[in-house]
Amino acid sequence: MYKKYFAWSFDDGLEQDKRIVEVLRKHGLGATFHLNSGLFGDKTYEGRIGNLGMTETPAALFDPSKWHLLPYVPHFRIPEDEVRDVYKGFEIAAHTCTHVNLSRCSEGERRAQIADDVAVLSELFGQKVEGFAYPYGAGARKSADALRAAGVRYARTAHTEEGFRFPSDSLQTPISCWHISKKTFRRLNQFFEVEPADDDLFFLMFAHGYEFDFGTKESNWDKFERICAAVAARDDIVCCSMGEAFRRHEGR
Ligand SMILES: [Zn+2]
Repeated sequence: MYKKYFAWSFDDGLEQDKRIVEVLRKHGLGATFHLNSGLFGDKTYEGRIGNLGMTETPAALFDPSKWHLLPYVPHFRIPEDEVRDVYKGFEIAAHTCTHVNLSRCSEGERRAQIADDVAVLSELFGQKVEGFAYPYGAGARKSADALRAAGVRYARTAHTEEGFRFPSDSLQTPISCWHISKKTFRRLNQFFEVEPADDDLFFLMFAHGYEFDFGTKESNWDKFERICAAVAARDDIVCCSMGEAFRRHEGR
């Protein structure tokens, strides 16, 4: 009997994740949080253009009198001494130590950014880190060897794919939908209706916590809650972390 899996995937380890985990717990949903172990407690602001965070300003340089020129939201990372409590019960995955663009790194830098992040997070959280997300969605092709060497078994790109198949290459896992998409509920309904005829199916929903603070039509906390409630109401869908979806699909 083939199964349908749904997972949330959040990046950067932000203060907004505290509210996210509350909602996920309320609905009994799993999720994967991709953290940068070299940036705990780091504070910047994200300026918004459309639904995207487009310009990042360090908190120390942020000028609140310019707030009205561009809508800004805080991109504050949770301090190291809090993260274990905040993410208790959720999957932790890597995202490089300092959020680098892997397509622009030397091979040595790439290996260190991946292996060190995996090692620090595994130690800190006492769980074997097997997942990864490419910062800026970049560098997937160049990073495969470094990821395998670090024990990474699946990695998320920023590329969206229409179907709901598990990827043939788990180190290039596409997303099914970025929550800010206008098509979010249409995509979810497609997933709800499709039958897993000859293989398991997987829906991967991607977001950054700060995006919910934008409060725009397509990017807000209410939409996040509605997605969670809609998925949680389905008893034919396994709602778990990315890692659990891959493990169960691969029969591990
Ligand atoms: Zn990121």
